[in-house]
Amino acid sequence: MGKILCSGQMSGLVKFRFVLGTLDYLTCHHNVRMCVTSCGSEENLAHLFLHCKIFGSVWYYISRWLGLSTIFPFSVGDHFNQFTIDGGVSKARRSILQVLWYATMWEIWKERNNMVFNGKECSIMQMVDKIKSLTFVWLKAKFPSLPFNYHGWWLSLFTMLGTG
Ligand SMILES: [Zn+2]
Repeated sequence: MGKILCSGQMSGLVKFRFVLGTLDYLTCHHNVRMCVTSCGSEENLAHLFLHCKIFGSVWYYISRWLGLSTIFPFSVGDHFNQFTIDGGVSKARRSILQVLWYATMWEIWKERNNMVFNGKECSIMQMVDKIKSLTFVWLKAKFPSLPFNYHGWWLSLFTMLGTG
């Protein structure tokens, strides 16, 4: 993954492997595991990525940054659809939202593993900042013709891109 991130791209294959690996782990793991954040809930796919009061709040800040409403449907698949449909008819905007969705899921998964395996944690705002930095690099490489600038990205990316 590090090599891919350094090249500034997230390939479809990586996304595919990530989602499959996560689903596989969370649905085939027979031992009941409690959420690593100590929120008191059992860990499952929807809890970890959407409904956990700790990890779920990452979506609140990401949605606020994007100027989108925060929605938490029952399933992760529904969340992907609703989050990216918010992009409307613009293909570029929708494509950007898809990358942001994957990046947010990826960051939550990494942070969860960091807590489980290394006993370390970072704050929600640090996670949000990592997602912003990561997606800036990925999207700048994916859409070289769009007017990216780092300052505008942090303030309001769709305003910066003129698609807000
Ligand atoms: Zn939780």
